[in-house]
Amino acid sequence: CESKFRTLNEVAVSASPSVSPEIRRRGLMLVLSSPSGAGKSTIARTLLANDGNLTMSVSATTREARPGEVDGEHYYFVTRETFDQMVADDEFLEHATVFGNSYGTPKAPVETAMEAGRDVLFDVDWQGAQEIQQYAHDDLVSVFVLPPSIEELERRLFNRAQDSEDVVRGRMDKATSEMSHWDAYEYVIINDEIEKSVSNVTAILASERLKRRRQNGLLGFVRALGVGQ
Ligand code: ADP
Ligand code: 5GP
Repeated sequence: CESKFRTLNEVAVSASPSVSPEIRRRGLMLVLSSPSGAGKSTIARTLLANDGNLTMSVSATTREARPGEVDGEHYYFVTRETFDQMVADDEFLEHATVFGNSYGTPKAPVETAMEAGRDVLFDVDWQGAQEIQQYAHDDLVSVFVLPPSIEELERRLFNRAQDSEDVVRGRMDKATSEMSHWDAYEYVIINDEIEKSVSNVTAILASERLKRRRQNGLLGFVRALGVGQ
């Protein structure tokens, strides 16, 4: 019995609290999208703080940093020239123009995290989600976050108090067209109470991690239990 566990441990490269530590698990790519202001960054921050197996994909952008935003943590704030060079050098997994600025997902950190069996969280718009789907196939888990109402979305955008009134108006104007992509996502969360939303996304993540096809070491484990011999 002891030797069986040694064998299983030898193949274990990653573990999360929701999966038996003996079972090696394939990483997943969790995409969160929403109209600006619905709360996806707030949900993402809490998930990352609570979950040691989740890594944030930090995008590069040409937009100005908001007060309190840290380069390399919230975004890599880059010049137009640097962004265009990164595109030319094929450094992005995907990139898109959103509200007149360029945003892109650097490829290398995602590959490193996935190879290490870690899950990666993406805060990207619907265009980014589609591109990531092409890259991720079965590794993708997609969640769309809706606001409880249009009035509440506007209130949140103003309360965030990090963008000028013009920018907020522009984001409100785009909200309906962004929300029209809600049905391209596997899961939809209505972000009314933040605690509820976080626990819902946590539940999604826990179930997705337990999918049989993601537990690579399962076959060896059941064989060690004497099944199929
Ligand atoms: P997004 O990343 O989708 O643009 P944010 O996470 O920045 O949105 O949230 C926009 C604003 O709404 C922030 O000030 C945030 O604190 C607030 N917020 C987020 N979720 C909720 C919620 N469930 N209830 C009330 N306010 C919220
Ligand atoms: P914000 O300027 O509010 O941080 O982001 C504006 C929008 O750009 C949000 O919908 C956000 O999800 C999206 N976004 C951020 N980074 C990326 C990225 O790398 N790629 C794509 N396609 N969208 C992004």
